[in-house]
Amino acid sequence: MAAVKACKILITGANRGLGLEMVKQLSENSCPKHIFATCRDPDGPKSAALRELAKKHPNLITIIRLDADDPCSIKESAKKVGSLVGANGLNLLVNNAAIVANGTIQTSSVEDLKNTFNTNVIGPLLIIREYRPYLQIAAKASGTPGMSSKKAAIINISTVAASMTRMPPIYSHFQTLPYAVSKAGFNMLTVLAAEEVKTDEILCMALHPGWVKTDLGGRDATLEPNESVEGMLKVIGGLTEKQHGGFLDYTGATVTW
Ligand code: NDP
Repeated sequence: MAAVKACKILITGANRGLGLEMVKQLSENSCPKHIFATCRDPDGPKSAALRELAKKHPNLITIIRLDADDPCSIKESAKKVGSLVGANGLNLLVNNAAIVANGTIQTSSVEDLKNTFNTNVIGPLLIIREYRPYLQIAAKASGTPGMSSKKAAIINISTVAASMTRMPPIYSHFQTLPYAVSKAGFNMLTVLAAEEVKTDEILCMALHPGWVKTDLGGRDATLEPNESVEGMLKVIGGLTEKQHGGFLDYTGATVTW
């Protein structure tokens, strides 16, 4: 059972994979008062499972359109969520949406390099920018000192593929240079965002979900989505200012940058 106590939560890329599993587990938990499950095509076939879940929990889940590649949709989504969260703001923002692309220096296409950077770095940056006011409101409204995911937090779902020390030894098996380079940029974004939002007492950190059987992780992955998400929610629920600006995995272990 998830230990996340945040009242209002927003998750990107919530229509499948880990994002959908997160919404599912959080909706079984009595704590969240509202989950904004965002995806780029709420009415499309790839969002059928999310629509089904939202139908089961109409007072708990709101599906919002958010395409990380489209700055206008990010702005629009923030306006909408801002009007719905009210005086207590948004407690938890999970930057989960991402794309993967394979390749090496010799084989990566310029298009893949640009697309991964757009979706995995620029998108989350704009999302943090647009949603920060609602996180600030939540941090102020909490009336408690320190940092926690219950108060106000940004969780960036990262990967060991972005780690300068962990990726080189596995690179020959995971030749995903565009993805790894973009996620390393995402890690820097996490560290710099943590610097910027610390005065607001908004917690910001990177979280590796493990190697998980999703469309992105593939069939050979070692974890089921429910195991990974159970672990991540437990970690998120236990975060304090000690982990601000840090990089952990789904078990709570520190990942080296
Ligand atoms: P999936 O490929 O299963 O799901 C990716 C999600 O991101 C989908 O909901 C997809 O939506 C969404 N998405 C992609 N591009 C955009 C966009 N432009 N705007 C909005 N949403 C978008 O991946 P996972 O669930 O496995 O991955 C979730 C996170 O976990 C990612 O950040 C990934 O890097 C990280 N991760 C995963 C690992 C794994 O083994 N699975 C390992 C390490 C990290 P759509 O259906 O519209 O494409």
